[in-house]
Amino acid sequence: MFTIDDLADRLGGYLPPDEIQQVKRAFYYAEQAHDGQRRRSGEPYVTHPLAVANILANMHMDHQSLMAAMLHDVIEDTGVSKKALAAQFGKPVAELVDGVSKLTQITFEDKAVAQAENFQKMVLAMSRDIRVIIVKLADRLHNMRTLGALRPDKKRRIARETLEIYARIAGRLGINTIRIELEDLSFQAIHPMRSERIKRAVASARGNRRSAMREIQSSLQQSLDDEALQGTVIGRQKHLLSIYKKMRDQRKPFAEIMDVFGFRIITEDVASCYRILGVVHNLYKPVPGRFKDYIAIPKANGYQSLHTTLFGQRGMPIEVQIRTREMEAMANNGIAAHWLYKAGQTTHPIAEGSHARARAWVKGLLEMQRHAGDSLEFIEHVKNDLFPDDIYVFTPKGDIMELPQGATVIDFAYSVHTDIGNNCIACRIDRHLAPLSTRLESGQTLEIITAPGARPNLAWLNFVTTAKARSAIRHALKHQQQAEAIMLGRRLLNKALTPFETSLEELDESVFTQAFKELDVSSLDSLLEALGLGNRMAHVVARRLVDVAHGGSFDQTSGPGGEKAVLISGSEGMVLNFARCCHPLPGDPVVGHLSVGKGMVVHRSECKNLIERKNDPDKLFALEWSETIDEDFPVALRIEIESRRGLVAELAGLVTDADANIERIGIEERDAHLSTVNLTLSVKGRVHLARIIKRIRNLPNVGKITRMAN
Ligand code: MN
Repeated sequence: MFTIDDLADRLGGYLPPDEIQQVKRAFYYAEQAHDGQRRRSGEPYVTHPLAVANILANMHMDHQSLMAAMLHDVIEDTGVSKKALAAQFGKPVAELVDGVSKLTQITFEDKAVAQAENFQKMVLAMSRDIRVIIVKLADRLHNMRTLGALRPDKKRRIARETLEIYARIAGRLGINTIRIELEDLSFQAIHPMRSERIKRAVASARGNRRSAMREIQSSLQQSLDDEALQGTVIGRQKHLLSIYKKMRDQRKPFAEIMDVFGFRIITEDVASCYRILGVVHNLYKPVPGRFKDYIAIPKANGYQSLHTTLFGQRGMPIEVQIRTREMEAMANNGIAAHWLYKAGQTTHPIAEGSHARARAWVKGLLEMQRHAGDSLEFIEHVKNDLFPDDIYVFTPKGDIMELPQGATVIDFAYSVHTDIGNNCIACRIDRHLAPLSTRLESGQTLEIITAPGARPNLAWLNFVTTAKARSAIRHALKHQQQAEAIMLGRRLLNKALTPFETSLEELDESVFTQAFKELDVSSLDSLLEALGLGNRMAHVVARRLVDVAHGGSFDQTSGPGGEKAVLISGSEGMVLNFARCCHPLPGDPVVGHLSVGKGMVVHRSECKNLIERKNDPDKLFALEWSETIDEDFPVALRIEIESRRGLVAELAGLVTDADANIERIGIEERDAHLSTVNLTLSVKGRVHLARIIKRIRNLPNVGKITRMAN
């Protein structure tokens, strides 16, 4: 059985003793934490993290990745907290473990196959540290190797997820050794019979061809030696899934696929690659059109190599790949090759940070691509994968939505549907209620709670980030303002018509038609809207209408008389504003002032600001509070009171007990004994306020209490 000491020996090849010691410590911690837990195979659970660490050791990953591998199931399976891990092993390791755990929690169900690509992106977006992905890939690889006793349907589900997500991610990152093994293991789990048949056929074909292989290999090697070129010739095997795919997609019989001999030649430098190509083409005739120069034009994940196909004896095709040792490492390990290379050097590789390394990798790709002069599109792809600007979240049905970084719940709601945004009142993130302004993170599941008739809030514009949400909110608010302005306009106009003993409902259609022409409006609604917004005067319009109705001969002197107040219900939000100067409360005598473009502003009738408007009486309206108002209104109080400790807490408690809220509290110390407290409260109305003032009066040593206006 493979033990921690075996691993430590192996690590001795590339890590310093103190780092190996830390890896061992992580192992013992995991052993303790998983104590008593067993794998399905019956082995102690800790064999799994140990095996995962070993996979990473083969890739020469750094000690923090290895420690994270040891601990990767500890948070998820044993209830040890991230904080505890940070205290034991430092924050970077705890972050890695946490990242891997988060990836473990999301599972990709078959139904979402169409979204596999988004899912891959989400996985990448969730891993701010690329090492998280590499540890996760190793974890998945070991789980795939030990699928063994699982139920067939469960095996298939995991295999499909592996194929659609993790093998693809490994491919994107160029980690081909892991990709190929994941693909073959998945293939075996999904199609056990087919893979077994191909495996056996490959084995027997290989037996038959052994001597031919050896013959070609030695003649290739000989020709290199003759030219004094450094190079190692290796026989190459196709992996099971790629054979199967060729048979299925290209409808080729097995024999034809296996009729190809594959070789790889590893050499020192790029110049040698091309010289070897020349030698090889001299030895066997090349098949026209099959030469590919992936050194000059690398593949998207950075793969570089020369590919050519030759005519062997009796026309048997021979495929040859020629590349440098460095290209070989890149082809096998991709992004992880950067750890492989750093390892031997004395500079501490961790100090650079894993993202710096990932960036270096991307930069390397970019460099290659620049030489190749090819389109930069693929680099954009890779860059976005590694450093995504977008976040990916789930709908309750498991669909994935892509949103820009910084997007909030409201942005999500509008991206699902405009109506959902407009009617959104609350939200659950991962089943917990959360504020609508919460910024989202990749991997979260969102559920929007809507209420019919709910409306967007002006304040949403302060935090939404997507253009779609922004314009939808503006549109809805505009619409709402219009509707409210029309309603208010109708009331104002009817009020203005009352002295003429008529109303909108009683006027004739023909009156409107003619009046609209004179007033230059297109419809009753646009007229009412203009009235509600204060852009037109109700009494002027009323007189005009009455004039028209009476053939222009109505007696001017019997104008506005017995005033009838307009009722405020408090819900006219967009066209009815409460003046900030005097903070009117339900119960206060109030006067409305119609101001251009803003609609009605409600003042207390004693407000000083009204006095300067008194010379414009056409814009002033008597108002009355509706009985049904159930909203909170702000009110400012100034209280003189004896200074003492705990005064603020005392006042706060008193206000809360009276079912009111404190909006703001400020204390001016007037002298050692007397303070002035400026208190802004929200209350239901005048009666409510009176009750609160009475309570404040009951406090010891209270002086003057003033309700502020201006
Ligand atoms: Mn695991």
